Amino acid sequence: MPDNQYAILKKEELNSFISTLSKLNKLAAPVSRGYNNYSFEEVNSGDEIALKYIPTILPPKKYFMPVHETLLEYDISKGLNADAVTESEEMILFGVHTCDIAGIQCLNMVFSEHPEDHNYLIRRQNIKIIGLECNEYCDEFANCRLMDTHLPDCGYDLFFTDLGDYFIVHINTRAGEEIIENAGFFKSAQTRHLNELASFREKKRALFKIELPIESKFIPDLFDRSFESKVWDDLDERCLACGNCTTVCPTCYCFDIKDEINLFLTAGKRYRVWDSCQLDPFAKVAGGKNFRKARKERQRHRYYRKFRYSVDRFSRFFCTGCGRCSRTCMAGIRLKETLKSLIETWIK
Ligand code: SF4
Ligand code: SF4
Repeated sequence: MPDNQYAILKKEELNSFISTLSKLNKLAAPVSRGYNNYSFEEVNSGDEIALKYIPTILPPKKYFMPVHETLLEYDISKGLNADAVTESEEMILFGVHTCDIAGIQCLNMVFSEHPEDHNYLIRRQNIKIIGLECNEYCDEFANCRLMDTHLPDCGYDLFFTDLGDYFIVHINTRAGEEIIENAGFFKSAQTRHLNELASFREKKRALFKIELPIESKFIPDLFDRSFESKVWDDLDERCLACGNCTTVCPTCYCFDIKDEINLFLTAGKRYRVWDSCQLDPFAKVAGGKNFRKARKERQRHRYYRKFRYSVDRFSRFFCTGCGRCSRTCMAGIRLKETLKSLIETWIK
């Protein structure tokens, strides 16, 4: 029996599919940058894509929330109005892992709250997402099983799972259906393909084990009891306050707004740039006071934003388990080790 929600793409047709897709749309996918580093870049052929990759240096949030984004421009020689600017173009992201799809879902929630972020939402609408399943655990830094982001849930248009000599593709939206119809390389999935997918997922569930001695439902309790924990003192001594951990995080969304004006004070622009709660000036207010002066306060804040505050506000964790913060930290601060220390301190 054919299944309309699933399609099949033979492996040998992937390159033709990618070439066709890149001719019809701007297409970005993970590419290798050497030394086990990967980044999402524009691609034109399947050969450029890294199908097996650990999380990219920056998450795909860079397409939804650019590092630097102009918000408005003005030139009083042309009139006194400031023109709102929305930088957005239609594109497809191919090969997005489930942890990064979860990150985009977190950002969707944040930027849909009142007042809605028009620029983000327009971009979200213009970007189609093709997910790609991880068949293996990426490395020792990930905690996607604990965060329950290791399996596809929703938040994509199409989702590819590699089943050997073919991909089985879940069609999740009308836009995804159109991609398949326009490309023309896909066949309907049959019952045997669905059975192979079910058996693959069963093996994957056994392979991906909860990384820490805690069930995720107890994590908010853990944090309720950990505000004064000595674990934060340890991070205070080690953290270099470089801000890398928040920059690479798929759910961090803080930005600063800046103005740039010409020397004659007649024209300029307002833009926003990514900011980080780990940097010293982040919490500086008028009068020179800094309400998170100590590094331990800033580190604690980062962890509470991921595991406690977001549960109250959005009913979900804002950690997707991607492991980027641990992979990038020059001071060797590892998220799983911090959580483990908090758990051990709690149990004592
Ligand atoms: S990457 Fe490491 S050293 Fe840099 S701010 Fe984050 S925890 Fe501190
Ligand atoms: S806190 Fe670390 S592991 Fe969690 S989503 Fe952010 S970068 Fe990934």
